[in-house]
Amino acid sequence: MSVRRFMINSRAILDGYASFDGDVYNHMVRVLRLETGDAVQLADEKGMVHFGTINQVAKEWVAVKITSSCPATLNDSTSPRVTICQALPKGDKTDLILQKGTELGAHDFLLFGGRRSVAKIRDDQQNSKLERWNRISTEAARQCGRPDIPSVSWRPSAVEAANDAGHELRLILWEGEREHSLKDVLSAAGKPASLIVAIGPEGGFDPLEVRHFSQHGFLPVSLGSRILRTETASIAILAIIQYIWGEM
Ligand code: SAH
Repeated sequence: MSVRRFMINSRAILDGYASFDGDVYNHMVRVLRLETGDAVQLADEKGMVHFGTINQVAKEWVAVKITSSCPATLNDSTSPRVTICQALPKGDKTDLILQKGTELGAHDFLLFGGRRSVAKIRDDQQNSKLERWNRISTEAARQCGRPDIPSVSWRPSAVEAANDAGHELRLILWEGEREHSLKDVLSAAGKPASLIVAIGPEGGFDPLEVRHFSQHGFLPVSLGSRILRTETASIAILAIIQYIWGEM
């Protein structure tokens, strides 16, 4: 079995040892049933990977002895940080977008309730949905060997999603856009440090939402005359950005 990699906070490391309770403990000990002597990799939020072995397993915590540390090679810090701002799609398409988006290097996901989103999330469902979505991105990150895990968050509407965006470059993929193609906009823009892309649900964006995003600095762009499904649009835009500005 390959060595498992865990996402940790660098504060957990002290004097060559890292110790964990909570989620990391649960995952390591209860879910994966790792034991003293098992090798693990720990990736921290600063882009370092630490190699070590489990040194002690207690009832509520586990300690790892770190043997070496190095920068995560797959963490391409020169790529822009891309946020996928996705209107909630139907059924299990969210899972697909999170999984493929993580493989394609999305930095994080901001899901929001679009005016035309058919699926709805009640307030009391939010926590369990977020838990599930974050599990999917965690699992996808692990599967593709990414040291960092894209976070998934939720906003009830486009208004909240747009308000949130402090990104250097902001785009809204809009099926109604006739003037600006993605190609024109990306070739005119220099490589940004961060980028957010808003994508509508199956029914597309409501004009009010387009106006709202525009007012928050999102440039409407077209992907051409063919209408892509929402999940195709998300996956395609990430592949394109990775190709232009990432390490593909
Ligand atoms: N029902 C709408 C299409 C929605 S497609 C219609 O018939 O017009 C779902 C989302 O994918 C859109 O809101 C948009 O964000 C993105 N998308 C799909 N095709 C696109 C295109 N050709 N240009 C720009 N955005 C597109």
